Amino acid sequence: MLNCSLVYLLGVDLGTSGVKALLVDARGAVVASASESYPLHTPQPLWAEQDPNDWWNATCTAIRAVLGQAGVAANQVCSVGLSGQMHGSVFLDENGESIRPALLWCDQRTAAECAWMTEQIGERAILETTLNPVLTGFQAGKILWLRRHEPDHYARVRQVLLPKDFIRYRLTGESATEVSDASGTALFNVPQRDWAYEILDALELPRAWFPRVYESPEITGRVSAPAAAATGLAEGTPVVGGAGDQAAGAVGVGVVQTGRVSVALGTSGVVFAHLDTPQVDPHYRTHTFCHAVPGAWHVMGVMLMAGGALQWYRETFAPDTDYEALVQEAAGVPAGAEGLLFAPYLSGERTPYPDPQARSAFVGLTLAHHRPHCTRAVLEGVAFGLRDSLEILRAMEVPLHELRLTGGGARSSLWRQIIASVFGQSVHTLQAEEGPAYGVALLAGVGTGVWQTVPEACAAAVQLASETKPDPVQQDAYEAIYTRYRRLYPALREFWSEAAH
Ligand code: ADP
Repeated sequence: MLNCSLVYLLGVDLGTSGVKALLVDARGAVVASASESYPLHTPQPLWAEQDPNDWWNATCTAIRAVLGQAGVAANQVCSVGLSGQMHGSVFLDENGESIRPALLWCDQRTAAECAWMTEQIGERAILETTLNPVLTGFQAGKILWLRRHEPDHYARVRQVLLPKDFIRYRLTGESATEVSDASGTALFNVPQRDWAYEILDALELPRAWFPRVYESPEITGRVSAPAAAATGLAEGTPVVGGAGDQAAGAVGVGVVQTGRVSVALGTSGVVFAHLDTPQVDPHYRTHTFCHAVPGAWHVMGVMLMAGGALQWYRETFAPDTDYEALVQEAAGVPAGAEGLLFAPYLSGERTPYPDPQARSAFVGLTLAHHRPHCTRAVLEGVAFGLRDSLEILRAMEVPLHELRLTGGGARSSLWRQIIASVFGQSVHTLQAEEGPAYGVALLAGVGTGVWQTVPEACAAAVQLASETKPDPVQQDAYEAIYTRYRRLYPALREFWSEAAH
């Protein structure tokens, strides 16, 4: 039996703006947290790069800080889990040194390479193997871009790693990845949970460049002596596979079994459901990836601007009003904002419309509409956009028994009520939210026997806080309004595509 007061788990989340190190005890309680930022470079429009050495230095600082803050000795940390921004590409030479800055998930330079790859392999073969179209953010296009545009760098490549796996490489000396992050490369056989060797071969990408694949809670290596000196961790501390940030976040909120769904209302909106089998949307509007739960998958729909739409609206029309007061104004407006609709596509959209040219609109304004109506329309437009993702999952017959609402927007009781009524389903909130670092700390505990399984870890550590039920009257009203909302995008698309030219 473990003595819980002496055992700690460390979760590290390598985000786009910074790294977060989180120390959790063996009951799942957060003990300390530390963050460290690093720059994002944009050498040309649409490019996004970071120096992997910046990641490593920031990670060492954050780990030292979190251990120091908690006053925890190195040998009390029983294991480490890694999470991070997905899809990026780190190129290493024969000495394991980074050849050039890493290309990130949000880098958009690879459109030509993605089109070429799809042509080369065949769209059908790609969809059947990777379960997703080749998106410009995914790792494959970045490797092909290097081959075409920087042949000298390409000639020196001996390994290609995902961002968090570079941290693992520095921590343990092992090249390894795990199924959830590898799913976002466009080079991974998602149903079989291994590299898509036939795709690697067809693209003439050496198999040896791609690291060994583990399940997320498995131990992938141990902290080396130099890494122990750099981080303050004990040499030999196990490092588990961990997960990409979406799957790790889902573990952190307990979406680890059939029927559970998380709805994240942060800057973007993500509807994420656990799957026992690798199901796909026949139109590929959602992503199906391996989950961090061994033998499970997940499906997710992504709305690019969810809370971000309210943030833009507040900054533009009510900069002196805080979120609470602004949202409260909308409470007195009836469901449907007296005929006003808001299309929430402020920076293009991904699910259900993969359209970078989509734009926003208020539709139906009259002299009778005032700011509270507009605020209500924004809250409702975002809820309808999230429902679009939910409807795709419903059509796939994914079990959706329990919805967990997370992110900054979940703080608003009015927004929760609107979402529950628009969805026609109760939504729950959680007592605490610590994001992906928390999820991988739990995975680290599973990998080292603190808990036997991922669902067991979540049952012990993740607690619900509130339940908001749909209001039957509002729910009826929203059914009709949602049907009108569904007609907005097709009706307005023509204007947006014209505006882009
Ligand atoms: P991120 O995805 O950037 O981590 P958060 O999860 O913190 O963002 O969510 C930020 C969003 O949460 C804001 O853009 C805003 O829309 C929303 N938000 C924050 N506080 C409130 C509040 N009190 N009421 C309603 N919405 C809120």
